[in-house]
Amino acid sequence: MINTLDTKQSGGGRAIAAVRISNVRKTYRLDAVDVPALADVTLTVRSECFTVLSGPSGSGKTTLLNIIGCVDRAGHGDVEVVGVDVNRLSDDELSDFRARHLGYVFQTFNLLPVLSAFENVEYPLAIAGLRAAERRQRAGELLDAVGLADKARSRPGRLSGGQRQRVAIARALAMAPRLVLADEPTANLDSETGHSIIELMRTLQRELRTSFVFSSHDPQLLGAADDIIRIVDGRIVGIERAAGHRDVTNGEAFAC
Ligand code: ADP
Ligand code: MG
Repeated sequence: MINTLDTKQSGGGRAIAAVRISNVRKTYRLDAVDVPALADVTLTVRSECFTVLSGPSGSGKTTLLNIIGCVDRAGHGDVEVVGVDVNRLSDDELSDFRARHLGYVFQTFNLLPVLSAFENVEYPLAIAGLRAAERRQRAGELLDAVGLADKARSRPGRLSGGQRQRVAIARALAMAPRLVLADEPTANLDSETGHSIIELMRTLQRELRTSFVFSSHDPQLLGAADDIIRIVDGRIVGIERAAGHRDVTNGEAFAC
């Protein structure tokens, strides 16, 4: 069991949605031509749920995850992430917010090649200023949780794609984030490995009671999710919530 650190806030008993965005638009400008990527997106991501953002290539998944992950700012609209109105944060506050509360898993793993698996997981903890003993213990627990205790000393170049993504998941969870975002985490993996990565994320999401959003264009992965958000051409075309969950629907936040 991984220690959850102390970053969870109770929200005074009120369930806080993991994400609440309204009327978000994003247009890229390419060679003096406007490319609309998100058109008036309004949605809620429930907290402590495993949510998939599903849509074909070019539908706006990465753009939306970048806005939710505070890597990019919306051109227009309101964005609330784990209860915080992120539009109000300065760039410095935003980087602090990201480091404390959000975790990221990438399609291409994005591990530091000169560091071992263990050091990659330890890295965000070192940046955050944790004492050596504490961060070693936590990095060890996390590598154990993703089934890679025996690969702690290996550099990413000596690991398979699936193993690299496991390291990246451990790294994303290092700071006990309240929300983890994974942009097509299985796109560079064969389908069997991809499935096992999604299963691992789901298991850890349940165990840590954190919120996860992963994007995928693979319909076979939809079954693993609690909630499915479907996006086509920058528009949300459907949201399917798993039945049987606590669901406060009077416009207030809800959670799994
Ligand atoms: P997805 O992740 O679903 O494949 P994206 O969010 O990457 O979709 O892209 C949505 C749309 O925005 C696409 O039409 C894409 O070509 C366009 N787009 C994405 N990033 C940029 C960019 N940096 N400059 C111009 N257009 C972009
Ligand atoms: Mg993408």
